[in-house]
Amino acid sequence: MGLVETEGLILKTYSLAEADKIVVLLTRNEGLVRGVAKGAKRLKSRFGGGLEQFSVINLTYFQKEERELVSISQVELVKSYFESASNPQFLQKFSYLADLLTEFAPPHDPNENLYRMAKVCLATAAEVPESLDRVALYFELWILRLGGYLPDWNQCENCRRILNNDDSASLQINFHILCQVCRKTKSNWLISPAQRQIFMMAQKFSPLKFVEYAGEYPNDVRVVSSILRRLIANILGKETVGEKLLAASF
Ligand SMILES: [Zn+2]
Repeated sequence: MGLVETEGLILKTYSLAEADKIVVLLTRNEGLVRGVAKGAKRLKSRFGGGLEQFSVINLTYFQKEERELVSISQVELVKSYFESASNPQFLQKFSYLADLLTEFAPPHDPNENLYRMAKVCLATAAEVPESLDRVALYFELWILRLGGYLPDWNQCENCRRILNNDDSASLQINFHILCQVCRKTKSNWLISPAQRQIFMMAQKFSPLKFVEYAGEYPNDVRVVSSILRRLIANILGKETVGEKLLAASF
């Protein structure tokens, strides 16, 4: 493959040996990339301050066919989120979202929509710091959607009827929904019209517009986000869902 130039978002960095760093990036042209930055921990490193977590950089790296780890030769800082990341809540939330990206983005398989989404979410959370929960919901939903995992909450899974804006729905164990006619038992988890709208609007709006819209519904944001997290956990196989989902309360 040789020399590669692309823009990338730094998801994580680790120390390697005394002076080197391992950098995990989501790149625009090459998907998830893991690279070594030799000498990055030295005071006068050629990478300067360009290798901080969540920074957007232009980078050049060398890739050998058989190696997973590339060798980073040059970086140029495009945008730093160093200041935002000094807020522990921002740091915690985006560290979690960065972990999701590393789980969902296959190595060296570019997805420009995923890259753009992650970048815009970072910018939105930096601009509106109190919107972290809403941005996280947006992020979770789009990771699922771009991976092809997002259920359709527009229609009843059974009778295929398109639901109206003011219809409630029942959540099933497979995360699809049923209309109130097809609903089988009373114990099913009810999705309110507001919660369904949040789910729909996150797919329609930009993060900034979504954050404004969802600001009026903090509790519903929490509920929808928790459903998305269960779906994610289910996909990643770290938690069994089943009846626990339907029994859970907030
Ligand atoms: Zn139905």
